Amino acid sequence: MNHFDIVIVGGGGAGLYAAMEVLNTNKSLKVAVISKIYPNRSHTSAAQGGANAALANKDKTDTVDKHTFDTVKGSDYLADQDAAAVLCEEAPRVMRELENLGTPFSRMEDGSIAQRPFGGASSPRCCYCADKTGHTILQTLYEQCLRLGVTFYNEYFILSLEHKDGKCQGITALNIKTGKIEIFPSKIVIFATGGYAKAYWNRSSNAAGNTGDGQAVALRAGIPLKDMEFVQFHPTGLRKSGILVTEGARGEGGYLFNNESERFMSRYAPEKMELGPRDLVSRSIEREILEGRGFDSDAGKYVKLDLTHLGPELITKRLPQIRELSISFEGIDPIEEPIPIRPTAHYSMGGIDCDKTGRTIMQGVYAIGECACVSVHGANRLGGNSLLEILVFGKIAGHEAAKEAQGFSTPSIPDTVIDKYTRYFRSLAGESQYERYAVIREEMGQTLADNVAIFRNAKDMKKAIEDIKTLRDRFKRVKLHDTGKVFNTNLINILELRNMLSIALTIAAGAYVRKESRGSHFRTDYTTRDDENWHKHTMFKLSKGELKIDYKPVTMGKYPLEERTY
Ligand SMILES: Cc1cc2nc3c(=O)[nH]c(=O)nc-3n(C[C@H](O)[C@H](O)[C@H](O)COP(=O)(O)OP(=O)(O)OC[C@H]3O[C@@H](n4cnc5c(N)ncnc54)[C@H](O)[C@@H]3O)c2cc1C
Repeated sequence: MNHFDIVIVGGGGAGLYAAMEVLNTNKSLKVAVISKIYPNRSHTSAAQGGANAALANKDKTDTVDKHTFDTVKGSDYLADQDAAAVLCEEAPRVMRELENLGTPFSRMEDGSIAQRPFGGASSPRCCYCADKTGHTILQTLYEQCLRLGVTFYNEYFILSLEHKDGKCQGITALNIKTGKIEIFPSKIVIFATGGYAKAYWNRSSNAAGNTGDGQAVALRAGIPLKDMEFVQFHPTGLRKSGILVTEGARGEGGYLFNNESERFMSRYAPEKMELGPRDLVSRSIEREILEGRGFDSDAGKYVKLDLTHLGPELITKRLPQIRELSISFEGIDPIEEPIPIRPTAHYSMGGIDCDKTGRTIMQGVYAIGECACVSVHGANRLGGNSLLEILVFGKIAGHEAAKEAQGFSTPSIPDTVIDKYTRYFRSLAGESQYERYAVIREEMGQTLADNVAIFRNAKDMKKAIEDIKTLRDRFKRVKLHDTGKVFNTNLINILELRNMLSIALTIAAGAYVRKESRGSHFRTDYTTRDDENWHKHTMFKLSKGELKIDYKPVTMGKYPLEERTY
């Protein structure tokens, strides 16, 4: 049995920052990072564009206050303003800390960190390393964790959060390499398992592993999820694969145009144009396509993103990965031709409900990063604010947990949980099982993409809820074909699908009850924001296995509710 003071589930940017901070706060603590993939392959490594901080390197007039206001306005006033203020105040500090740790930021002429414009921001404040920002941050943090002596359990899949009398006892996890179920008693567990936008399966920019595992485990353990209906569609996914083309491409001056060669954003965001916030730009693209001004192809309808006028030098220096991805996945070199794009499911604004220290309602359980909903993004996240969130709240939660761990008693987990999961895995291979996980997964992704995407209405969402419930019933008959112990990807795929199905239901059910349009949640049957009835968070809990929805007030601050225009 592996006893720890603090177990961090997830080795992305949030988990690694927290691990580093735990040991920087108290070297004597025993801390482990448990991760289903190798930490430096986490989705953080796919982040291209950058992280926001009001450093005022590029625009001397930028301030923390402007950053906070942009964040609250971008969230369509659903962000908790105290949390948004922490995010923006801490941003310059964490960015300098990363710089001091050796992150190879792109530079301005004077040597300071370069900053580019990003959507919904009033100043160019997005700090970047070419178009590989997440990758470089993750490598930097991983090095630090190795240096400090964090214990890593790589290729372990969390099965459950164990708790007694409302207090955390640790977790159980499947060792993917051996097939053994292992117990990790721990005084504190920090969830840092990333997002759930892969539930949209074929229409998503996310890594295959972004399946909402942490959120589903927390929900099963009685911890509420929040604002799950808010799923961000990024405006520019590659037409065929949904792979992301960073907002940095528009930040560097890229244009969007339709089949009439028109820069259509002039119709929707005359001031900000292509650099409007993501919800608005995605809706505008989708509307162009729906109204017949998109391009047609076997791979679906799309609009074009033109970078050709930026020239080969800028593209190869600042957007090299975008060029590589366009060539590999669309056969198009953006130096010579515009890139075919359409919006793609990208980011989970919802997640495990926590406060601005990362604490959840259960003693000893924290949540950070994309799996959490501390509520800095509200109904729509601004580009560059998520890398920032994982750093700021990873650091805060790591520090808080390190201080708190000393006061907690030694936890214990009974061995019987191992038998429970052994029996469950055996039952999946039983004779009465026949459903194929890949078919259920495909249908789940399709119903979400068809019915709970950019434009939503009651009829479609009801259909999605019914579809998902049927799929959950069918999942009870899902067949584990591979009964091998070593690296059983068939089993992992099934466990991920189990988690995604419960998350898919929260997305659809939350969207169905919210009778207004706000941020990423746009309803054609309720087209305006309704502050009187819906300026509140949606809260999701399981009660006797059934999903229950409740509400929680939004924390206001100095920014009053206003109409959002760009
Ligand atoms: C293509 C792309 C580009 C992006 N670009 C930007 C950008 O430019 N700027 C920005 O601010 N944001 C960007 N984002 C968003 C941002 O990158 C993510 O929100 C952020 O990196 C999430 O970090 P995280 O540490 O919370 O989770 P992740 O980096 O996703 O890490 C999750 C970790 O949890 C582990 N895990 C998951 N499930 C389990 C399980 N069952 N058991 C054990 N471990 C598990 C995984 O192994 C992984 O280590 C982008 C996102 C995508 C998809």
